[in-house]
Amino acid sequence: MRDQILDVLLPHLAAVVAIQDIQVIGPGVRITAVAAADAAPCPDCGTNSRRIHDRYGRRLADVAAGGQPVAIRLTVRRFRCEAASCPRRTFAEQMEGLTVRYGRRSQLQERMRAAIGRTLAGRAGARLAVMLHCTASPDTLLKRVRALPAEPPEKSPRVLGVDDFALKCGHVYGAVLINIESGTVVDVLPDRTAETFTAWLQQRPGAEIVCRDRASAYAEAVRTAAPDAVQIADRFHLWLNLYKTVEGKRAANTRRHFAAVHEMHDKGVSIEVISKSLRMDPKTVRKYAHATTVEELLAPPRQSRRMLQPWAEYLNMRWQEGCTDSGRLFREIQERGYRGSSRSVRRWLEPLRSADAPVPKRSEAPTVRQVVGRLTRHPDNLTSGQRLCLKHILARCPELADLRRYVGDFARMMRNLDGHLLPRRIKAAKGSDLPPLRSFASNLTKDLDAVTAGLTLPYSSGIVEGHVNRVNFLKRQGYGRANFDLLRRRVLADTSRVLVTPL
Ligand SMILES: [Zn+2]
Repeated sequence: MRDQILDVLLPHLAAVVAIQDIQVIGPGVRITAVAAADAAPCPDCGTNSRRIHDRYGRRLADVAAGGQPVAIRLTVRRFRCEAASCPRRTFAEQMEGLTVRYGRRSQLQERMRAAIGRTLAGRAGARLAVMLHCTASPDTLLKRVRALPAEPPEKSPRVLGVDDFALKCGHVYGAVLINIESGTVVDVLPDRTAETFTAWLQQRPGAEIVCRDRASAYAEAVRTAAPDAVQIADRFHLWLNLYKTVEGKRAANTRRHFAAVHEMHDKGVSIEVISKSLRMDPKTVRKYAHATTVEELLAPPRQSRRMLQPWAEYLNMRWQEGCTDSGRLFREIQERGYRGSSRSVRRWLEPLRSADAPVPKRSEAPTVRQVVGRLTRHPDNLTSGQRLCLKHILARCPELADLRRYVGDFARMMRNLDGHLLPRRIKAAKGSDLPPLRSFASNLTKDLDAVTAGLTLPYSSGIVEGHVNRVNFLKRQGYGRANFDLLRRRVLADTSRVLVTPL
C-alpha cells in the first residue's frame, strides 16, 4: 500500500529512485532515497558501468507535497568508466527526469519555475513561487524566460490569422500571428505595419488563407507578399463593426432626444407634454431635462454610483419604510462601510424624491452598453426580463427596431455562412434611413472580396481574438519590467490553446 501511494503521489521519484525514508522535519518533508538502477551510463562514451568508485550525499529541492516544502536527500554513486578508449575515469550518476549535473532542484521544480516565469514574469512570479515553496527571485525567473526558445517557424502555416494588440496604453501596437488550424501562436511582431508583416510573409511562404481584421495594412501586406492567398475579413471583426454601428446609432438617438427635450423644456413645456409629443417615457424625459450635458447620459455609471451600488437595496428598503432623510441614510450606510460622500447619496435619492409616487423599487434603466448587447445578442440568449425591457425600448423607437431586424438578418447570414446573401444585405443597409448603417454598408463594399470570403469560408480569427486576450494578460504581468523580446518569448513558449465558441 505504501509503495502504491508513493507511485501515485510522487511518480517522478518512483520511476528512478528507491525511497528509503520520509520524515517531517520542521515545516517540511525530507525524503531519503538512492538510485533504483544498479548501473549508470558514462556521459562521455555511453558505456554502462556497475563499478562503484565512491558515494556522496546530494540535496535536491523538489515540488511541494501536500502544501509542504520537500527536500530530497540522495545518496549518489560515482562510477568508474571501464571502456579502454574513454578518457573519463569516473562519473557521477544522474537520475533521469529528476536530476541534472550541478542542479540543486528537481527537474519538476525547474519546470514549475519556468512555467511561473512564463506566465507571471518577474516580481509577481517570484511572489507566487514563494507560496508554492519553489523560491525564485524575479531576476532568476526573467533569466528563465530569456532562455526560452523563440524561433519563428520556417514556413507560414496554411491558414494564418493576424491581429493587433496594444503594447502600451493603446498607442503602441504589436501584431500576433496564429496558426488557425492548430490554434497556436506562430509569432509576435513588434508593430502592426504593412512593412513588418510583409517582410515576415516574404521570409515564410506557405500561407494560403489569411484571416485578418479590416485594417488595410494587413491587406496590403498579403497582396504584396502572398498575392495568391485568399484574404478573409474575419467574422468577429465584421460583427464588431456592426456592433459599433449599433452603439453609434444608440448614442446618436440619445443626442437627438437630449436636444429635443431641452428645446421644449427651455421654452417651459411641461415634462408630461414633452413625453407625449416625443413618445418618450416621462421618467426618461425628466432625466434628459435634468442632465446638463448629453455626455452625462452617455457616460458609463459614475464612480459615485458604482460605490453606492452595494447599498442600493438597503436604501430602497429604508425609503419604503418612510425614511427619506438623505443625511440620516448617509450616516446609516456609512456605519455599515460606505466610503462615498453624502452628496452622492443625496443625488442618488433625487429620482426617488421627484417621482410622482414613492415607488422605490424601480429597476435601473439599462445602460447604452446593455441595450447594444441585447440588440446584438440572439433573442434565445436573453433572460425574460431583458427581452421585456428590449421590447419596451423597441416599441418606443421604431428605428432601433429596424436596426434590430437588420442585425438579426446579418447574424443569420454569418452563422449559416451565406456569403452569397451579402449583396442583398448591403443593398438593404444602403437603402436604410439610418446613416450609420449606410456607412457600414459602404465600408463592406470597400473590402468586398475579403468580407465575402469571411462570410463563406469556415475560417475565422475568432481564435486570434482569444490569443490577443492571452497576450494582453501576459503583457500586463510584467511588460513594464520586460522588453518586447521577453514578451515574445513568453507568448511563444505558452503552448496553451485557445478554445473559442464559433459565432
Ligand atoms: Zn566513458
